[in-house]
Amino acid sequence: MPLPLSKRPAWAEIDLDALASNVRKIRSLIGPDVRFYAVCKNNAYGCGAGECAATMRNAGVDAFAVSDPEDAERIRDAGINAPILLYGATTPDQAEAIADLGLIVTIHDRHGLEAFEQLQRSVQVHVEVDCGYGRLGFVPEEWPAVFERLKQARHLEVIGLYTHLVRAEDRLAIDRQVRRLKQAISAAHAAGFQDLETMAASSRVLLGYPELTWTAVNPGRALYGMMEQPWLDGLTFDPVIRSIKSRVLQVKTLPADFEVDDARHTADPGRLKTAVIAFGFKDGLPAQPDGGTVLVRGQRARIIAGRATEHTILDVTDIPDVVPGDEVVLVGVQGGDRITAAQAVQFYGMPMIELMARMSLSVPRIYSGGA
Ligand SMILES: *Cc1c(COP(=O)(O)O)cnc(C)c1O
Repeated sequence: MPLPLSKRPAWAEIDLDALASNVRKIRSLIGPDVRFYAVCKNNAYGCGAGECAATMRNAGVDAFAVSDPEDAERIRDAGINAPILLYGATTPDQAEAIADLGLIVTIHDRHGLEAFEQLQRSVQVHVEVDCGYGRLGFVPEEWPAVFERLKQARHLEVIGLYTHLVRAEDRLAIDRQVRRLKQAISAAHAAGFQDLETMAASSRVLLGYPELTWTAVNPGRALYGMMEQPWLDGLTFDPVIRSIKSRVLQVKTLPADFEVDDARHTADPGRLKTAVIAFGFKDGLPAQPDGGTVLVRGQRARIIAGRATEHTILDVTDIPDVVPGDEVVLVGVQGGDRITAAQAVQFYGMPMIELMARMSLSVPRIYSGGA
């Protein structure tokens, strides 16, 4: 389905077959018995949680995890009944409204624990323990008392405990966090919780430390083909945001005396041929740093400094026959060339999951494959 002609020409192309293939790869790594939560935060990392959920479910995901109730609603609105874990995302006064959504909720501190217990309604919960991140979750000295308290909480059905490990590039840091996690599991056992799901494997942990798979995993970025090196080690995950595209709006040769701050224009005034495209920081392209290239007519075109809200100017002096309507590729394939997400990260200087989601969430998304 192409972009409707009434729309401004800036869009993302989402490849649901790539998503299905990535899900199957992870399923084959973890085996059939580990519970596979697919992380769909930030509207599935910019890929669209509603659109992605059915494809992931059919490809072998057991459950989903989100950080915003809105993403859970997107999954439910797509007709998916699989369990959804809500990471810490709401305040205690929201407990009743959140319980109405029928999610597995995260208990990460005493205030949340009491708020959900006081509802006197049956709620499934996952307990978040903080093993070194310093973000959400109970810290080690709280663990024995917390699991004892949860044992008394008649309305809370504790199904598991999870943590988010940090500094995965540092094996010793991981070892220390895992040692703490084992203490949390012991505290749960001591309070009488024998069969809790144990989950600590985000994408990096899953790929870098397969022994930490335990009984459940919650990868995100690997699903969407947004892993950065050095984690891949021979594996490939296909990009689900296959391309970010726009079109040329105007082509012209700049008059020699124009006030354009560009080294090529200054050095050779009257020769710089530019193309203006319908893509700017409204579309998630960061205003800084300067630089970067895009593809036009299968060739690299340099971005001229000074990106604007909805427009960006290219140097197309060396690319013949550029005309309005020509497709422009910011990420993806054109002709024989490709701009990968990793290259775009080099150009625009931000983490891949941030850059790709910014752009994809700012423009219409066109889907192919899947279900
Ligand atoms: C985002 C997130 C994950 C998944 O992380 P990736 O690096 O994208 O795989 C796992 N657990 C928690 C708590 C998260 O917030």
